[in-house]
Amino acid sequence: TIVTRFAPSPTGFLHIGGARTALFNWLYARHHGGKALLRVEDTDKKRSTQEAIDAILDGLDWLGLDYDEAPTFQSAQADRHADVAKKLLAAGHAYKCYATPEELEQMRTEQRANKQPMRYDGRWRDRDPSEAQEGAPFAVRLKTPQGGETTIQDEVQGSVTVKDDELDDYIILRADGSPTYMLAVVVDDHDMGVTHVIRGDDHLNNAFRQLPIYRAMDTIEGGWPDPVYAHIPLIHGSDGAKLSKRHGALGVEAYRDEMGVLPDALFNYLLRLGWGHGDREEITRAEAIDLFELSGVGKSPSRFDTKKLENLNGHYIREADDTMLANMAAKHIDGEVDIELLTTAMPVLKTRAKSIHEVADGAGFLFAKRPLDMTEKAAKLLDDEGRARLSSVSDALKSENDWTIEALEATTKSLAEQLELGFGKLAQPMRAALTGTTTSPGIFDVLVLLGREEALARLDAQAA
Ligand code: GLU
Repeated sequence: TIVTRFAPSPTGFLHIGGARTALFNWLYARHHGGKALLRVEDTDKKRSTQEAIDAILDGLDWLGLDYDEAPTFQSAQADRHADVAKKLLAAGHAYKCYATPEELEQMRTEQRANKQPMRYDGRWRDRDPSEAQEGAPFAVRLKTPQGGETTIQDEVQGSVTVKDDELDDYIILRADGSPTYMLAVVVDDHDMGVTHVIRGDDHLNNAFRQLPIYRAMDTIEGGWPDPVYAHIPLIHGSDGAKLSKRHGALGVEAYRDEMGVLPDALFNYLLRLGWGHGDREEITRAEAIDLFELSGVGKSPSRFDTKKLENLNGHYIREADDTMLANMAAKHIDGEVDIELLTTAMPVLKTRAKSIHEVADGAGFLFAKRPLDMTEKAAKLLDDEGRARLSSVSDALKSENDWTIEALEATTKSLAEQLELGFGKLAQPMRAALTGTTTSPGIFDVLVLLGREEALARLDAQAA
């Protein structure tokens, strides 16, 4: 069976690139009826925080990505990592390096001066450990292959070849006995049974460093097949530069809390960020699971497009359940909120909104208290002329017993004809008086939602 994993380092929030990597791994596993696993790469104890772990787990949960096992914590596996290092050492696939930090620093200084690539020169690769001083500290280095080249058939990048001598014999176990990240990833992926490593293409070079560990362990004990690799291009900002905070590369919780994005919308947006199926934009979760294949992942970086996210969010807001939306929007409305009224208003409020905040902003007038605060534009509409018109409107509507959209519309339109005014000349001051703004749902929706008593009171409060 297919096993994928998402392996975040908990040094910050779940950012948009990480969330997309998580999504692609999850979808690939779900599409193939495999297992989706989660590994928290918390070996950097100084930079990993519980807060970040919580934010990542929370973000994944909010996006609706579930995992088939409890998360693995990389730091808890350190003994196992060291064990594998010792096996590699015992079998001659790794060796002890006694070079001191000063010595290595000097090596690098010389390489820099000679404009050579800076990498470990293999000085202990063929030396006998007995040449070292008794009890001197050593690091364990992997004996990487030499003289040839390695080709990876990457599911996204295609065939990629790197010459062996571009890779040095890197440390797998430090002098203090702690495993390095490069070793830990391979051992954990093997132990978790990961068959497909799907991650950002900033890790493509690491694949060439990690493969020799699989191959060495496979010759030692068998059962360490190469994983399938899929390195997905990074996300760029709309200007083509690498995505940064400036481009809106926020944590998932910021999209939720600050942008009012629905999880379904972000799910769909992340899916389309680098993966495509024809020209389909709106793809549900079920369809995504049905359609997702690595062959649909593009080779070039995708561009983050806030407009597209907003449009998708608008789409999912229109599709969403009104009670759920009302509860979400209520959190962003000041003062007391009547959830029932808000829910009733939702079909009207959500038609144009691109975020939960816009829904909430649009709903503000429902719960505003008289006297209403007026925007500057709204106040301008309530000049003498506007106020005079309002009193005609108010008189006409007072005689209206049928408080429905149709009846109110018929009455107001016939008043406009009677006064020989365009309908907008009445609707504009009405909107100002009823909502305190110049943008709102249709004016008859507003009248009906406010109810006869409140609506007439607001009109009268501004009428001349
Ligand atoms: N922890 C790594 C990161 O957050 C991912 C390692 C991997 O996927 O192999 O970039």
